[in-house]
Amino acid sequence: MHIMKVHNSLTRRIEELVPLADNEIRLYTCGPTVYNFAHIGNFRAYAFEDILRRAIQFSGMKIRQVMNLTDVDDKTIKGANAAGVALSDYTKTYKDAFFADLKKLNIQPAEVYPAATDHIPEMIALVQKLMDRGVAYKSEDGSVYFKVREFPGYGKLAHIDFDSQRTGLRCADDEYDKENVGDFALWKAWEPSDGPVGWDSPWGRGRPGWHIECSAMSMKYLGETFDLHTGGIDNLFPHHENEIAQAEAATGKPFVKTWMHCAHLRVNGEKMSKSLGNFYTLRDLLEKGYTGREIRYVLINAHYRSSLNFAFSALDDARKSLARIDACVANATDGEAPEWAGRHLADFAEAVGDDLNMPKAFAALFALVRDANGKGAAGTLGVFRRMDEVLGVIFFENAKLESAELPADIQAMLDARAEARKAKNWAESDRLRDAMAAAGWVVTDSRDGQTCKRK
Ligand code: AMP
Ligand code: ZN
Repeated sequence: MHIMKVHNSLTRRIEELVPLADNEIRLYTCGPTVYNFAHIGNFRAYAFEDILRRAIQFSGMKIRQVMNLTDVDDKTIKGANAAGVALSDYTKTYKDAFFADLKKLNIQPAEVYPAATDHIPEMIALVQKLMDRGVAYKSEDGSVYFKVREFPGYGKLAHIDFDSQRTGLRCADDEYDKENVGDFALWKAWEPSDGPVGWDSPWGRGRPGWHIECSAMSMKYLGETFDLHTGGIDNLFPHHENEIAQAEAATGKPFVKTWMHCAHLRVNGEKMSKSLGNFYTLRDLLEKGYTGREIRYVLINAHYRSSLNFAFSALDDARKSLARIDACVANATDGEAPEWAGRHLADFAEAVGDDLNMPKAFAALFALVRDANGKGAAGTLGVFRRMDEVLGVIFFENAKLESAELPADIQAMLDARAEARKAKNWAESDRLRDAMAAAGWVVTDSRDGQTCKRK
């Protein structure tokens, strides 16, 4: 068990992450809007959340993570109708691509990936609850709005002092800035540009607003009050502020204890984004010959609250750093870790627990590599493996595996071969070597005995 401290955007303090129940952190992460291929700026957010979920488990807590798929909103409808295909066909392409990309980046899957279009009844029920409580109203065009001045806590996440005099302002778009705070849409009345997209509701045909999607789906899978909610910093306002307002106005309970936000991936000082056109998708970089592992390395190397400037030179550096790690791990063996390796692991754990200080965690990894190269890597494999529970970038295929690591049948052959060699039965020794090779294992002999590696 390690202590884990994180920066809470709600209190603006570093706080210990303590599960509300069952030693399990319930985590909601805002997922992709599936109208296009995600760019590596988006993947910075998902990589940060992956480090977070791995760190939570590394420190001895359990995790239940929900990541939604926004498959109906202004952007997906526009895309589907422009392409002349059904919304679900249009979004399926990008959902599939998203999951393939997550695999490439070695991002651990969340426990649940709810899609917005599968949860329309839950969203309607939540809007109805807000209507019943008098914090929502139907406008002339049939849309339903959240009455911001009726929720006293409005602005507590973004730390804005909402001017209650500014009543009557209304914003139909999902995204707007702090200068345009106003009543926001919970349910959007059908418009001709929506084409075939729409659901019947007590307020007429329409579709949910983006913010209500996340409140409804997070509470369905994690409860009315849960531990942790994350996203990129651009999600903080208005999206997360509105999620809080909707949930707390409906339940009267605190919605989320801890909020965490990662800084942007930038290009030449500007946020990487679709609208600025300064983006690379994962596919773009893979086509240029970079690997998912190298891209992951770059994304997780910086502190999540510092903005990170994307440059190809960083990917080239990542390749070199990974080669150094690989070369060292190829010499690492199982067994009891030397005392100095244990110290590097302790430094690593402390860095991870200190608001995910990845630059420091990587420094501990490289201190381990340096010492292992200098003093010998015997017994360090377990430490590399433990660090990689969080990092997810180390290749172990080349490591020398000892008995504890081998499948039972391979172990039996290895033992029989040792006996044969002792008896100088070279024919039997060779036969066993070939049988192991056929099963995908390479055995080499040295003065210290046999070493067995996966082919
Ligand atoms: P979206 O699909 O636009 O809703 O974004 C999905 C996630 O990616 C959200 O958590 C955003 O905050 C995050 N995000 C978008 N652009 C960037 C960027 N340039 N750097 C880091 N995170 C980003
Ligand atoms: Zn969300």
